[in-house]
Order: sequence, then structure tokens, then C-alpha cells
Amino acid sequence: QKEFDNKGGVVVPKMPSFDYAPPPYTGPSAAEILSKRKEYLSPAMFYLYNKPLNVVDGKMQYLFDEKGRKYLDAFGGIATVCCGHCHPHVVDAIVNQTKRLQHSTILYLNHAIADLAEALANKLPGNLKVVFFTNSGTEANELAIMMARLYTGCHDIISLRNAYHGNAAGTMGATAQSNWKFNVIQSGVHHAINPDPYRGVFGSEGEKYAKDIQDLIQFGTSGNIAGFVSEAIQGVGGIIELAPGYLPAAYNIIKKAGGLCIADEVQGGFARTGSHFWGFENHGVVPDIVTMAKGIGNGIPLGAVITTPEIAEVLTRRNYFNTFGGNPVCTAAGLAVLNVIEKEKLQDNAFVVGSYLKERLIALKDKHDLIGDVRGRGLMLGVELVTDHELKTPAKLETLHVLDQMKGGFYGNVFRITPPLCFSKEDADFLVDAMNYTMSKM
Ligand code: PLP
Repeated sequence: QKEFDNKGGVVVPKMPSFDYAPPPYTGPSAAEILSKRKEYLSPAMFYLYNKPLNVVDGKMQYLFDEKGRKYLDAFGGIATVCCGHCHPHVVDAIVNQTKRLQHSTILYLNHAIADLAEALANKLPGNLKVVFFTNSGTEANELAIMMARLYTGCHDIISLRNAYHGNAAGTMGATAQSNWKFNVIQSGVHHAINPDPYRGVFGSEGEKYAKDIQDLIQFGTSGNIAGFVSEAIQGVGGIIELAPGYLPAAYNIIKKAGGLCIADEVQGGFARTGSHFWGFENHGVVPDIVTMAKGIGNGIPLGAVITTPEIAEVLTRRNYFNTFGGNPVCTAAGLAVLNVIEKEKLQDNAFVVGSYLKERLIALKDKHDLIGDVRGRGLMLGVELVTDHELKTPAKLETLHVLDQMKGGFYGNVFRITPPLCFSKEDADFLVDAMNYTMSKM
């Protein structure tokens, strides 16, 4: 039953009912927390435009503030919460493991670490079976880049313009957006033209963009390179699905130049794209190294690099170790995540609900000039807002108004939708009705 307001027949959004009442909150007020945050937490640019909610509870795809008000989390943490906030199986796995053993390193045997490594290897094609656990996506990509350099004996890495691969010395080099780069030395990374079907010069003709990689290798390197790193759908970059045909052509060129292909699945992995478990599978390629984080632990700090035994061998040349990577509590969470994705058919749900949501967003585009493009796959969708369709002029940040929390892309004008994979059609309806309502009031 849709309700209409009395002006202009706009659907008043209605959030689906959900049978959960969070316990009463007795902590400090939002204002107190904000003032502490301002005084004691790093004054990153990020905080300045963000009016954060005081989120005190999470249950599946919903969040609750200090007053018990319910919010639909269409951002899924930061594309991290794939099974749903505080999913009971994931919580049980964490609690049970925490009671037995909170920390052991790779120096000791622990079944949670070995079991997750085996389960992840079983999810990957080819000979991708050796796992190294990390604490984050940045760390996973740092390690992948280092492995490619060690294995090939070359230094040059190619990544895509507009990419985000992390924020440490090496990965900040691979990240290719001035918004996310400090002026530090980031040697040996070359940024290829982004195969962006919406803004790119060749539209959706993926193979044409790949020629730029050839040029970069030919004119900017010795002719041999360490590797190529890319997402299949750029997340932070504004949900840009690489043009079809690009990745196979790019992988071909990279392999001919002796490089390794690294698939960054930090955001697009773990069933998010619906049609496949990994984003790269949508392009029919098999990488040499796969990196992951975010969804792997449903929000618990965990990342991983998975590669072949031959490439993994490079790490035996020196001591290489990390204190927290593969912590049994995190890996127990990781195992529970894989079980939940399978048992609750979350990949199928991401496909069905994601396709439905995308259709509704495309219909919304026909209604609102502000929407320039709707794109993505499964439950990794983007809505790009522009003030001029021909020129694709990015809409100003203020225009986004309530959509502020989830904006992405170089111009900050892409509304990113990456909810928990348990998102329902009713949630999708609420989200689109809320966007319609907001845009109709602008
Ligand atoms: N790679 C991609 C594709 C990401 O989206 C991110 C984070 O947003 C990273 C790497 C870095 O991961 P983390 O923030 O866990 O270091």
C-alpha cells in the first residue's frame, strides 16, 4: 500500500517492518561523542562534511541510533557487512572462539586459520590456493604488489586511473585519485586510462582502452613489468564497472610483458555482484593473485591474499610475518561468513534483489534529471548525479543533501549502494521511494 503526500503525488517512503527492538541505550549523547571525536580523533577531511549518526545497535540490514530510531543501512557498513549486522551465526562463531582462544599467531597450529584458508582456496579457480591473512585491504594489496615485484624481479606496476587500492606507501601509489593521495614518494606505478563506460572516451568498448596499457609499458617502462592491479567494479571510484572486454585484453598484454595480474576483490568479492562470487569472474579472467578484505569477516578486521604455490614461494626468501593476520577470532568469523552466504543463498539474493533495485533505479532516472547514470551489478550499484546530461557536469555536493553519507567517485557525486546481501525487495522499494521523495523535494 503506497501512500501519497498531498503535493505532487510523491510516494512517502515506508520502511519495512522488522521485528527487533534494541536494548535501551544508556551511553553518552551524540553531542558528547562528537565533541570528543573533534578533540581526540584525527581531523581527517572526511569528518568535516560528514554529520555522523550515533549508531549504537545493528541488526541485519538495519541500524539503530541512541533513541532507538531505525535506519536502513544501504551502505552495509562500508561494503563490509555482507551477512547483516550482528548476524547470529557470525556472532556465535566470534563469541565461541573468543572464549577458547583469542589470539595465536601462525607460529602455532589453529584449526580456524587452516579451515578458512582451505574454504577460501576452494572458492577460487585454477591453482589459487595459498593464503596469507592480513588485517585490512590496504595490507593485502601492499603484500600482493610486493609479491609481484619479488616474483618478476621487476618494479613497474600498472593500475587504473580513478582506482582506490589503499592508503599505505605502495597502495597509495596504486590509488589514482588526487582526493586520496598525499604528496609522498610513490614510485613505479603507472596509471592507465580507466575503461569507464559512462565517462570514458571509448564508451563500452573495453578492448580499445587496453591499448593504453600497451603504450604505458612501451614508453614508460623497460618493457617488462611486475604486474597490474585492478578491481572489476571500482567501488570508492564511484561504482564503475570496467567496460566489457577490457580485463581479458589487459591481462593478455600484462602477461606478455611478464607481469602478474592482481584482482582487488576487497569490495566486489564475497558474492556482492550476485552473478558470481568474485567480481573478476564476471569478466572471464583468472588472476595470479587475489586480494580481499571487507566482506570476508562481515566487518571484523580481516584481509587475505591468495595466490599460487609458485608465487607464494617468494615469501620464504626472508622472514615475513604479521602479528594479527589470521587471528583465530577473525578467521572463525570468516568461516561463519562463508557458511551464511551459502546457507542463506546470499549470492542469489544479491542477484535477484540487485536486479530488481537496478530496474527501479533506472525507472527513477527517467523521472529525475539529476540522475545521469545508474550502474553496477548485484548489490554493488551506483547512481551518478549530474546537472547536465550532455556535459555530465557533476552535481554539487550540497545538492546531495540527505544522501551525504554514501557519496563516492572522484567528484563525490555518485550515490553508492552496497547494502548487506540480505537486503530485501521491500528494502529496495523503501530506498528508491526515499530517493524519489528527496529528489522530488529539491
Ligand atoms: N581496495 C579496495 C577496492 C577498497 O575499496 C579499499 C577500501 O575501501 C581498499 C582496497 C583498502 O582497504 P582497507 O580500508 O581495509 O585498508
